[in-house]
Amino acid sequence: MDGKAFNDFVNAALNSDGFAPSAPMETNQDACIQKDGLDETKEKHYGCLPEVIFDADLAHENVHKATCDELNRTRGGQGAYADYLRDRRNYAADEINAYDKKIEILENWLAKNCR
Ligand SMILES: [Zn+2]
Repeated sequence: MDGKAFNDFVNAALNSDGFAPSAPMETNQDACIQKDGLDETKEKHYGCLPEVIFDADLAHENVHKATCDELNRTRGGQGAYADYLRDRRNYAADEINAYDKKIEILENWLAKNCR
């Protein structure tokens, strides 16, 4: 599979109505809220998956929400978070924090449920 085929595969998977291969949640960068309703997202994309998968993805998005709320509050209102993310270093740092939180929740679940 070449790069274009891989990209097409990922795009098709992300835009399908089936279970998404990655977190099907997104935080609105101006309003700092989930773009889609959580109940609808859960029903459509998480189905019978263990509850912890949804919880971990939501915790990931809540890290973005916290960054968004803080920057919009301290740096001049809506748009501050979007401006912050235009610097790819900031974008990467916010994603690392969000994935660290997701990993923490999944590891805690594993430690509790898979001995
Ligand atoms: Zn993220």
